[in-house]
Amino acid sequence: MNQKIVLILPAYNAAKTLIPFLKALPKYLFGAIILVDDCSSDNTYQIAKKQKGLLVYRTPRNLGYGGNLKMCLGLALDRGANVIIELHPDGEYKMDGIIPGLAKIKKGSDFVLGNRFKGNSKIAGMFWWKHPFIKLLTAIDNLILGTNIKDIHQGFRIYTRDLLNAVNFRTNSNNYLFSFEIIAQAAFKHTPIANVPISTFYKGKKRGASFKASIIYSLGTFKVLALFILAKLGLISRLFRKQGKVSQCPNCKSHYLVEQRLSISKFNIFFCKICLNGFTRPIPENMEVYYPPTYWYYVGWIGYIRKITFEFFQKRRKKWIEEYLPEGGDILDVGSGEGNFGKSLNGHFRVINIEAPFAKLRNQEVIRTDFLKWRPNQKFDAVCFWESLEHLDSPQDYLEKAYPLLKKGGFIFIEYPRYESFESKFFGKYWLHLDIPRHLSHLTEKGLKILVNRVGLTCLEETSILSLDYGPAGFIMSAINIFRSVGFIPLLIFSPLILIGFILQMVLSVFGESPIGLIVSKRK
Ligand SMILES: [Zn+2]
Repeated sequence: MNQKIVLILPAYNAAKTLIPFLKALPKYLFGAIILVDDCSSDNTYQIAKKQKGLLVYRTPRNLGYGGNLKMCLGLALDRGANVIIELHPDGEYKMDGIIPGLAKIKKGSDFVLGNRFKGNSKIAGMFWWKHPFIKLLTAIDNLILGTNIKDIHQGFRIYTRDLLNAVNFRTNSNNYLFSFEIIAQAAFKHTPIANVPISTFYKGKKRGASFKASIIYSLGTFKVLALFILAKLGLISRLFRKQGKVSQCPNCKSHYLVEQRLSISKFNIFFCKICLNGFTRPIPENMEVYYPPTYWYYVGWIGYIRKITFEFFQKRRKKWIEEYLPEGGDILDVGSGEGNFGKSLNGHFRVINIEAPFAKLRNQEVIRTDFLKWRPNQKFDAVCFWESLEHLDSPQDYLEKAYPLLKKGGFIFIEYPRYESFESKFFGKYWLHLDIPRHLSHLTEKGLKILVNRVGLTCLEETSILSLDYGPAGFIMSAINIFRSVGFIPLLIFSPLILIGFILQMVLSVFGESPIGLIVSKRK
C-alpha cells in the first residue's frame, strides 16, 4: 500500500510545550504536518507559524477539541492523506506509539488507539481516582460496542481514509465526546480497530481533564451507547448514518465542519458547525421559476388572507423601527417585495426599497438589482431584512455589504424563521418555513449572532416573536405537508389545527421558542 501519512496536531494553549514537542518529533515519517490552533488565548499560533515544515491554520472561532479535530481531519483529507496520525502538542503523550501503530495499519487495521495501561496499571502522574474509573468505563463500553479496546478514553489515534469515508464523523460533537463517538461509529461499521502501547507523561496543573469535565464526558458516552443500541435495533440516528454529501459553507468558505441534515427531493440542507447556520444545495440555476407572479402579489380569496396577514407583519415591524428610531430616518428595505413596509411608515421615514432583479412587481419605485453590486449615494439609519436574509446564499456577504451603508450608530433589523425552533425540530423536513429552494439559508439565533459579530456589528437584541398571524400558518401547513406525503385528506379535518396552531404559538412564545425571530444589531 502506498501510504500518504499526515500528522495532525489539534492545538490549544500549547505555547509552552510546542517547541520541545516538535524537537522530539520523527518528522521524516510524515508527508505533511498540520497544526490547527483553536483560537488559543496564548501565542500558540504565532509560535507555530515560525516553525519550518509545519502547515499552520487557525479555527474561525474557538470550537473545542472535536471541532478542531474535524478541521484537522478535513485538511488532511484535502491533502490526499490515506493515514492520519493525531498527536497533541501538549506533550502528555509520548511518540512511541507511532511506528507500531503504522505497522498495525499495514496489517489491515483502519483505526489505531493508544493504550496507556500496557500491563503495568500505574500511569505516571495521573490522578489516582481516575484510574479505576477509566477501567470500569472501558469495560462497559467494550461490552456494549462488542470491541476489545484496552484504553478507550485517551488521545493517541491513527485514522485511515477508509474509516473517515465510512463514518459520519462531521456530525460528531465539537467537544471531547468526538473521540468516543468515532469509536462507536467505527464499531457500528465493524471497522478493524487495533491497540498499541503508548507512554504518557502527565505533569503540572493540567493532568488531563478536570473532575467536572470527566463526569460530563462520561454521561455523554452513555448517551452515545444508548444511540448505538438503538441503531443496532434499526433506529438509526444521525451519528450512525452513512456519511452524507459534503458541501462548502457559503459563510465560512470551508467544508470542515459541515454536515448534511435533511434531504428534500433533489435538495439538501447542510449545517455548518462553525457559523451555526444551514444552507441549501444545490442552488437552482433558474431561481425565478420558484418565484411565480403570485409570490409577489395577491389574487383571489387566498390573496386576501395573505394581504391581511402581511399587514400584521408591517404593524409589528413598524413598532420595532419606531422604538429604535423615534425621530424617523433613512431606511433601506432589502427584499422589500412591493414595498408595503415602507408604505406603512409615517412621513418621518424615507424608505428605499430593493428587490431581486427577477421580481415581478407592480410597484415601479422598487429598485430591482443585485444588492451586492448596488452602489447607492447615501447612507441609512437602518437596513431591514424582513424575512429576506434566508432567501439569500451567504447571508454574511449581505451583512458585510450592508455595514458600510449604515450611518454611525445605525441599525440592522433581521426578522427570520428560526431553524433551531421547536416547530422546526418537530416537523423536520415537513416544516413550512424551510421553503426549499426559495430559502437558501437556514438561520439560527446563535448563528446570526456569529455572522453579525463577524462583520463588526454589535448585537443589541435577539428575541423569538409571538406571531399570531404567521406562526400558526407554519404549524398548520407543516402538518398538512405530513398528511400530503401520505395521501390526500379533506381540508375539513384540518380545521381543529387552526386552534391548535394558535395555542401552540402562545405556549411556544412563552418559552422563547416561537418559530419567528428578530435580531437587532448596531454599527459602532
Ligand atoms: Zn459556516
